[in-house]
Amino acid sequence: MAYVRTEYPQWSWSFSRQQIFQSCRRRYYYNYYASHNGWEFDAPQESRLAYRLKQLGNIYTALGNGVHETAQSLVARVMEGRKLPDVAEIEEEIRRHLRRVWKSSQENREQFLIRPRRVDMLREFYYGTGVSDDVVERINQRIVQTAEALAECPVWAELSRKDAQVVACEQFDTVEIAGTPVYAVPDLIYKTAGGQWVIVDWKTGEEAEENRDQVALYVLFVREKYGASPEQITARLEYLNLKSSMEMRFTPEELQAVEKNALASMEEMKGLLSDPALNVPRPKEEFALTEAREQCPWCNFYELCRGELEASVS
Ligand code: SF4
Repeated sequence: MAYVRTEYPQWSWSFSRQQIFQSCRRRYYYNYYASHNGWEFDAPQESRLAYRLKQLGNIYTALGNGVHETAQSLVARVMEGRKLPDVAEIEEEIRRHLRRVWKSSQENREQFLIRPRRVDMLREFYYGTGVSDDVVERINQRIVQTAEALAECPVWAELSRKDAQVVACEQFDTVEIAGTPVYAVPDLIYKTAGGQWVIVDWKTGEEAEENRDQVALYVLFVREKYGASPEQITARLEYLNLKSSMEMRFTPEELQAVEKNALASMEEMKGLLSDPALNVPRPKEEFALTEAREQCPWCNFYELCRGELEASVS
């Protein structure tokens, strides 16, 4: 499809957009508005910088990406009827991803400044904070635990059964809620031989209530996209590093509440637009810096906020 330039980004909604909106309005502005068209060589400096900073990862997101990539390759192998690799191979695949990102962050700063979308860069290297020995240790433990949990995951046995069908794996897709495209990227959706729908979300962090809200949105997505009824849909949160799993079903009333919350969130976001039809944001100053300043040194957009943050405490 040919690239069509637009002055403003397309209006949409997603669970992660809501999380960013709630964490900091300014972060939301930089992530969804200032960065738009920041890939153009003659874009304003702030836009170019916001676009670059938006691409930064961190050591935890790198682990998550490595695990998701590995899980995706396991799904492909099972569906091709090939043997699953053993734990050591799974662990090595995750480590390979992390080594690649780490090496790129160490060696490719200049390339990242020019082509941020194409070059992996961890914020710990970009900002020079480094990764502490404790964090390296924690990441190492999680790699071992997630590799073991992935190898033992019941999903593989279910997918190997005759008539099991993978419907989507890390597929970027949308459904519409009240005319707004809602993005959802469930890790895995499959149908069992018995006609049940299963949504799997692999997690590499701690248990959190918001994860339940996220998979509830995926259930809504499967209902809207594929016409499955809620009683046919099971959502499964696989906490890999905790080696625990949580299965959930949602009633039509609970899904209605999910939709209602999404609509309320959209309305709140639209309150910061000067032209909702064109998705034109209000001036930057109306997107407040967070009050929870302890998160700022860990935020991708710190470089853009540093001056204002320092001025606000002096
Ligand atoms: S550095 Fe702080 S104020 Fe600035 S965008 Fe990030 S979280 Fe918000």
